[in-house]
Amino acid sequence: QILHEFLDLKGNIRVFCRIRPITGGENFGHLRPVVASNSNEVVLKLMDNKTKSYNFDQVFHPGSSQDQVFTEVEPIIKSVIDGYNACIFAYGQTGTGKTFTMVRTNYLRIHSQHVKEGSADTPGIVPRAIEALFKQAVDCNHAFLISFSMLEIYKGNLKDLLVPKPTKATDPMPPCLSIQADPKGEIVIGNLVAIEVNDFNQALRLYRLGCRLRTTASTNSNLTSSRSHCMIRVAITCFDASERRRETNKLWLVDLGGSERVLKTKASGKRLDEGKAINLSLSALGDVISSLQRKRHHVPYRNSKLTQVLKDSLGDDSKTIMLVHVSPKEEDLCETICSLNFATRAK
Ligand code: ADP
Ligand code: MG
Repeated sequence: QILHEFLDLKGNIRVFCRIRPITGGENFGHLRPVVASNSNEVVLKLMDNKTKSYNFDQVFHPGSSQDQVFTEVEPIIKSVIDGYNACIFAYGQTGTGKTFTMVRTNYLRIHSQHVKEGSADTPGIVPRAIEALFKQAVDCNHAFLISFSMLEIYKGNLKDLLVPKPTKATDPMPPCLSIQADPKGEIVIGNLVAIEVNDFNQALRLYRLGCRLRTTASTNSNLTSSRSHCMIRVAITCFDASERRRETNKLWLVDLGGSERVLKTKASGKRLDEGKAINLSLSALGDVISSLQRKRHHVPYRNSKLTQVLKDSLGDDSKTIMLVHVSPKEEDLCETICSLNFATRAK
């Protein structure tokens, strides 16, 4: 209860920043341009001894653990049980640790094969959030149902990641996903598959299946998987004592496409199209969050599929955490500044 009031006190949208550590084999140079000076501030060391600082609800320095990140995220799970829709985003340039924070890349591999003896297993937000949701739902002592859905937004198109592509040319194509609002304003994604899960392991198996069906999974490189938004929806329906259905609430867990500006890189053709689509939807997301934070009358949800899908989970009656990821490296400083500016607009 106290924790929940605490979250309320801090508003509906919280912005966190995570600075990636230098990983093995990376040459860092002698400059350390991105510094977390304390748990609320990031300081950039620019040229001529100038500095620039940014404030956030929480800053995770390179040594922060997945545990520490989840501790700050966890109150949102309680909000979902209490009747809010919620949304957790990972934003940032490719390679800054979005997928690490959300799921942790080798988590998949470790679990689908065998756990190496003694290897520290540090899952990210997705498995922890689903596990916490089950645990807290059980603690409520009411009947509940949890369903799992997963979709991708690639070049402005929605794709259900739990529906395999037909293998034969004669097989029917899976139905297209559509975005509609019901009379209460709740967003319904037409044709999206939602599979009931009984525990968090079942949800993780579906997650793995979904990853294999991503448009961008084919080459399996981090760079290509960053050209689409990957969105997981965990929906919980609670029943009251007389087994009547109460409402259904949604938790969205979103690993956004890489925020790097494509026009600066020498991308062309397909890469350029993908990048433009990502940049457009990310700026639409920024506009929506900024309008919400400034309590504007008009919130421009309609400008992208991303914000249309999230419309009822991103606003006054919902809870949002945006985790902005930045690189510690000097060569990434321009992108880091862009990401921190984006995050600042969202505050
Ligand atoms: P993104 O999804 O933003 O493109 P990744 O999550 O794939 O980035 O991270 C890029 C690389 O950095 C991966 O090898 C990942 O394991 C590593 N990495 C990212 N964040 C951390 C962290 N906090 N601690 C250790 N390694 C990390
Ligand atoms: Mg990634």
